[in-house]
Amino acid sequence: MERIVQQTDLDALSCKMAAVSKGYLPSKELQENVCGFSDYKTIHLEYFKSIMKNLGRRAQGQINRSLQSSFPVMNYGTYLRTISIDMVLHDYISNHNDDGFIQIVNLGCGSDLRMIPLLSIYPNMSYIDIDYEPTIKLKGNLLGNSEFFGKVLPADRYRLLSCDLSKHDEVINLLKEVTDLTKPTIFITECALCYLKDDDAQLLINSLISTYRKAGLWISYDPIGGGGEGPDGKDDKNDRFGKIMQSNLRETRSLEMPTLLKYRNKDSYSSRFKQLPDVNIDVRIQNLWEYFTKNISDEEKQRLKGLQFLDEIEELQVMQSHYVLLSAQW
Ligand code: SAM
Repeated sequence: MERIVQQTDLDALSCKMAAVSKGYLPSKELQENVCGFSDYKTIHLEYFKSIMKNLGRRAQGQINRSLQSSFPVMNYGTYLRTISIDMVLHDYISNHNDDGFIQIVNLGCGSDLRMIPLLSIYPNMSYIDIDYEPTIKLKGNLLGNSEFFGKVLPADRYRLLSCDLSKHDEVINLLKEVTDLTKPTIFITECALCYLKDDDAQLLINSLISTYRKAGLWISYDPIGGGGEGPDGKDDKNDRFGKIMQSNLRETRSLEMPTLLKYRNKDSYSSRFKQLPDVNIDVRIQNLWEYFTKNISDEEKQRLKGLQFLDEIEELQVMQSHYVLLSAQW
């Protein structure tokens, strides 16, 4: 099972590459104007080239196929997921940057390269990527053996750590060695909690929030099953999104998302971050369709429209209504 879960990083990477190569990412509005970072495309292409050389033929074929069949709905999804997380991150950092050092911990980082722009823009930041050992080893080799990444990645403020997220005590012990518990800390789980068992995920959330008491932010992005409470308070039985997703993942990949059908809607997903009675926590959550309609400017929507012809707007709505972006601040 571990290996199957690790391979989900290749899905995330190929989706990111598709969105980059079609021009969805970077967004001028965010990555270039707000973040002032212009090398976004180059760092992604560079990493992609190196990882492809390190993969077996089968994985290369899988990635190439998904790049070639990069549907607009998928690219919108990748764009929204990336942009929404980056936006929350930048809002928080710009409000806390005067406090001195900020630390970011990306739990289940996979091949995500967000640390490069962030570390180069914010000199008062340290960044820790955590994933299973094979993923961390590969990422470490690709970044460490590259002259290009040697120049763009401030290595003194970046760490790659191997750990199994389902062992919350090991995660805490590891982090205690390399972080400062008194500094503002941001945790990111982007499509990572969904692969953990319910109890393991809850222990991870509770123990990290109660260890990093001073100030913190947790950003989490995940699918939700739907089919729970409908808008009128009754079960929305017609919504079979989660059930179909679960059976597809089981049949085609033998992959499980243990909490997909437990945290089916925004309220139940948010409840996981409110389990500690003595922590004052402000939890906000939106689905990504709401994010698209409310947070993306008309100009940006127009730009996206020009990239690929999207006639499956209803499909986009259904899909993005089943992904959530949560930010919990304490
Ligand atoms: N967060 C990255 C992104 O969005 O691009 C990668 C997402 S990928 C779908 C899920 C990642 O979570 C994989 O890299 C996987 O290895 C990692 N992961 C899932 N369960 C884990 C666990 N128990 N311990 C460590 N890493 C885990």
